[in-house]
Amino acid sequence: MKKILAGNWKLHKTRDDVKSFVQTCQASSILNQVTRTRTILIPSPVLLEHATKLVGSGAGTHLEIFSQNSSAEKSGAWTGETSPVQLLDIGVKGTLVGHSERRQHFGDTDASCEKRASLALSLGVEVIYCIGESLAQREAGQTQSVLKTQVQAYIRAVKAAKATGASTESMLAYEPVWAIGTGKVAGPEQVAEAHAWIHEDLLGAGLVSSILYGGSVKPSNFKELSSIPHVAGALVGGASLEAKDYLDLLEILDSAP
Ligand code: PEP
Repeated sequence: MKKILAGNWKLHKTRDDVKSFVQTCQASSILNQVTRTRTILIPSPVLLEHATKLVGSGAGTHLEIFSQNSSAEKSGAWTGETSPVQLLDIGVKGTLVGHSERRQHFGDTDASCEKRASLALSLGVEVIYCIGESLAQREAGQTQSVLKTQVQAYIRAVKAAKATGASTESMLAYEPVWAIGTGKVAGPEQVAEAHAWIHEDLLGAGLVSSILYGGSVKPSNFKELSSIPHVAGALVGGASLEAKDYLDLLEILDSAP
């Protein structure tokens, strides 16, 4: 399985910013020489179609566009939602589900994330399913049980999609909530421990999925993080906003063990 570098742009960038980012990457020898890594960009919804047109779809296209969210419904009276059918229609290949900012501020729950993920996967939209414990949960010694509950929702979603005959690729992102956008990166032992737990739970369910790490990843800490067992790449917020940092991360990941 390929490694994955996914840049979550959250509520940042305009059309011009996206254009210059994509052009810088496409002109870079780093992007054109990587062989082991998928390169994913995740703009806000209004920029998705612009981004898919810029990256193109033919052979030799390296950049892929994912959405920050995808509805649990195909269509209907769901104001503000984006259907996976609409994502496919504009060339978006995949979506985040359950990012902690969605869970914290917009009421996404394990149950709603499970529905979002299973619909997306059953229709052929890839999923990066985000999980992670809060600081309070970590301090209360609940990290493993919180992750287990979240992973079970992911497993149910993948199995439900498989039951419809879909074989869409899906992956997990372990993002300790206290490390997202805070500059506090989880220690290598904490990352190794969490990724090993998640890997075991997936194996127990007969699934193999890539597991990304997310939380204040930047070029200066990524060499160490990307060489931890079961870390297949990263979901990156702040350090994905500048093309130079994104390309530096890509170079590090592509040469990681
Ligand atoms: C994220 O948005 O998923 C994230 C990990 O953000 P940051 O890299 O800024 O912590």
